[in-house]
Amino acid sequence: MTMTEEDLKKYEEGFYRLADALPHMVWTAPPNGENDYYNQRWFDFTGFSRAETFQHEWWIRLVHPDDRARVLAAWHKVLANPTLYEVEYRLWEQATGQYRWFLTRATPVYNLQGNVIKWFGTCTNIDDRKQAESKLLFHASLAQNITDAVVATNLDGTILLWNSAAEALYGWKQEEVQGKQVNDVLHTHYTRVKWEEWVADILKTGSWRGEIRQQRQDGTWLDIQGGVSLVRDVNGQITGLVGLFRDITRSKQIAHELAESEQQLHAAIDVAGLGHWRFDPQTNLFDCSARCKAYLGFSPATMVSLDQVCARVRPPEQGSALLDTLKKQELFEKEYQIQWPDGSLHWLAVSGRGQYDKQGRPIGMAGVTLDITERKLGEQRKDTFISMASHELKTPLTTIKGFTQLLKRQAKRLGLPEQMAVTLAKVEKQANTLTKLVNELLDVSKMQAGQLEYTWGKVEIDQLLKDVIETVQPTSPQHSIRVHGETGCTLTGDRSRLEQVFINLLTNALKYSPQADRVDIFPACSEQSVEICIRDYGQGIPPEEQKHIFERFYRIDRGKNQKVEGLGMGLYVAGQIVEKHGGQITVDSKEGEGATFCVRLPLSHPLENAR
Ligand code: ADP
Repeated sequence: MTMTEEDLKKYEEGFYRLADALPHMVWTAPPNGENDYYNQRWFDFTGFSRAETFQHEWWIRLVHPDDRARVLAAWHKVLANPTLYEVEYRLWEQATGQYRWFLTRATPVYNLQGNVIKWFGTCTNIDDRKQAESKLLFHASLAQNITDAVVATNLDGTILLWNSAAEALYGWKQEEVQGKQVNDVLHTHYTRVKWEEWVADILKTGSWRGEIRQQRQDGTWLDIQGGVSLVRDVNGQITGLVGLFRDITRSKQIAHELAESEQQLHAAIDVAGLGHWRFDPQTNLFDCSARCKAYLGFSPATMVSLDQVCARVRPPEQGSALLDTLKKQELFEKEYQIQWPDGSLHWLAVSGRGQYDKQGRPIGMAGVTLDITERKLGEQRKDTFISMASHELKTPLTTIKGFTQLLKRQAKRLGLPEQMAVTLAKVEKQANTLTKLVNELLDVSKMQAGQLEYTWGKVEIDQLLKDVIETVQPTSPQHSIRVHGETGCTLTGDRSRLEQVFINLLTNALKYSPQADRVDIFPACSEQSVEICIRDYGQGIPPEEQKHIFERFYRIDRGKNQKVEGLGMGLYVAGQIVEKHGGQITVDSKEGEGATFCVRLPLSHPLENAR
């Protein structure tokens, strides 16, 4: 601007009047730069008196120390070489005690000779803009460090932001895409809707989350999981869109492969006639395949809970067996009788294994079910047959034994040849063996039906063992059976049943150690229980067989050369009797090094109702 001294005077008067009414800070300075005017806003903001303010370059003290050198240099530069002065710096505000960002501009006014006669300056508060800028910078650096691709566009779809993860994911550098239309760069396959509908939907709801397919620079397609939100300015106006995108191609592929292999597995399970299930302890839901539901008598569409399943078990269950196994991290294996709503009864074998999180907490159990009704009915028929056959055998056997004894007595009385007595003794021995066998068969069927009767009384352990040895020892004179110590203990039990237990164990010890010459018995008594271990030095029992030998009719197959007679009932009977006494029977053995069977019995019977 060029004017005469007079014009300037007039101009200044009007300017000062106006300046005092302005919300901006306004100042003037003569050509030497020493300020000669500040408006009221300046004094209000800085809180300084006029006396201080007009001192030489006093104002620089109010500028942030980090900005001072830069600002002074700029000011001195324009004074020496007048031009538009424009500088941004932080100025101290007295009211808050804080620095605020200002844009200071000043223009020189020239006289007709072309010399500067005055500087007119303003300071505009740009603190909000600076804050927004620094926020923007912060967000931009955040976007760069995010592992997901971040893409921001304006409403026309022009790309404004493309972070380094987006570069890595899609293959284009930021410089290549900046300012381009997002749809020209990224070919996107929206699974359900068109782009326009998609944008309209976002505008309506404010955001979008979902899965899309997008094409990389190299032409390959990616499965993407993304979320897009609207961007608004300070006035709440929508200015664009920002999206976060993650590559889920691999996980989708894995999920697909997993689903396929699961399908194959389920098909194989189904073909095998098995139903499969999964139990969730959180929801109590018993997720069941159609076949599994059919086995339980539910229609395929029914949602089934564990309680509903348990209500169909006969007698009804609480589901505690399954939950206990889950907690103990054991394998679940059980056979259940199930009653369908039509009243029919079915048998199911259920097995399952628990699933656990990293801390070992149970998160579920999965397994299979098999209809074993046919097998169970077969077993029942077999049991009925055994029971009936043993009953039928018992009567003629008793008759044979009776007549043999009669004949023996008559032979003695009539003085018949010795050979006859020997023969009759042999008949009697065989009849006794047969009677023992038939009795054992009868016991087994009664045990099966829970009908074996017990006669409870006091049993002296030491005497019991003596009597047992007396019975068993004569059957194998090559062995010497030794008891190591006495217990002095008495317990509550059925004496003849307990005799049966120890006779079975001792007979086995002798039977399965044909090369040995001794069997040792170690009895021990504590305050609560008695433990009797029987140790033999025979062939022993392989570890994998040990858990089966107490099963009904189970025998170890040792090949033709080692045929030992037996029907696989002795240990089953012993196990059942010991269990009825509230005790346990265990085996410890190494193949080829003999076996030790230990029976632990409580001195007083803990299971009152078992009697
Ligand atoms: P069994 O009539 O066959 O003897 P048990 O029920 O008494 O029936 O025993 C089951 C199986 O356990 C037997 O077939 C035998 O192979 C094995 N067994 C039992 N006791 C012993 C032992 N002391 N030593 C080695 N094997 C034994």
